[in-house]
Amino acid sequence: MSIDFSDSGGFETEEPLVTTSLTRDDENEGSLRPQSLTEYIGQKKAKENLSIFIQAAKMRGEPLDHVLLHGPPGLGKTTLSGIIANEMGVHIRITSGPAIEKPGDLAALLTNLAENDILFVDEIHRLNRSVEEILYPAMEDFAIDIIIGKGPSANSIRLDLPKFTLIGATTRAGQLSAPLRDRFGVTLRLELYTPEELALIVRRSAGILEVPIEEDGSMEIARRSRGTPRIANRMLRRVRDFAQVIAGGVITRDVADKALSALEVDFLGLDAIDRRMLSSIIEHYSGGPVGLETLAATINEEAVTLEDVYEPYLMQMGFLTRTPRGRCVTRRAYEHLGLKVPSGLNGGLDQLSL
Ligand code: ADP
Repeated sequence: MSIDFSDSGGFETEEPLVTTSLTRDDENEGSLRPQSLTEYIGQKKAKENLSIFIQAAKMRGEPLDHVLLHGPPGLGKTTLSGIIANEMGVHIRITSGPAIEKPGDLAALLTNLAENDILFVDEIHRLNRSVEEILYPAMEDFAIDIIIGKGPSANSIRLDLPKFTLIGATTRAGQLSAPLRDRFGVTLRLELYTPEELALIVRRSAGILEVPIEEDGSMEIARRSRGTPRIANRMLRRVRDFAQVIAGGVITRDVADKALSALEVDFLGLDAIDRRMLSSIIEHYSGGPVGLETLAATINEEAVTLEDVYEPYLMQMGFLTRTPRGRCVTRRAYEHLGLKVPSGLNGGLDQLSL
């Protein structure tokens, strides 16, 4: 695949395609991001592997192999990429799949990298095909082919790139094309965090924000954060507001419970949308199976949001199962919502054979 610069307007891009800071989407998130692997809580397996790969690459004086990080949003993919850059002692450039519209945009990014730099591409599954094809030789041979001129006089030149590491982050590894997936040397899957790990994250964040928090206050927030550090940090901020106004500033279990209940987050971390999802499967589709698109239309949410953000936790909690014919709720979901369990429904497993 070659890039034709005669159509792409050269290397110029109007929108800021890339940033060097990790704070682009949520200004307040920056201060809470761990900077080193030891500060990064949980994800033991991913961390252990990464630590070996980083050490080995440093010993060889080479850039780290390309890394693919996948898992639901808010689990720490961007944070981990920043940490990899810190641990490797190199710069990181941050961009995202949808921001790179043309092959020329990507070529501009790649040619501006310094030796051993990291290029972080968030939502890498959303790269368009013509851009993606530029990545193949770039990842494999550290080179891109560009075409100068048009028609019979066009010339193809191979441009060498500095050796770099591509870190791709995605919520849906399954949507990556096979040729792209195969070019990543390291693939790491981030898992939902345990309440104990989230409690550590909440306590660490409270320390940084200088909010006094009692042990069971942090556990209460952790239990209701659906396995996700970003949600835990957000909840901490909201609970802090309640603590200031009604409890002299200290986050206790009681304050956390009051605040989260006021925000409609129940004792297992389900919010209004989770509950709407489950109850509409029960009310409108007799517990399922129902297709994702149909369900999304019924509750007026985007199907991708339901799939990426809501389902992983509902499945982990055993409220929802995915079957070839659609989504089904389980006995636990009926019980949690305080509804009568239909006779013949034994957990989620029996629905697989419907
Ligand atoms: P993603 O890129 O997967 O959507 P982020 O890297 O943006 O997630 O993480 C969201 C927030 O959660 C960050 O601000 C960071 O403070 C916090 N966070 C994520 N993972 C961890 C972790 N392992 N330890 C401590 N904080 C974390």
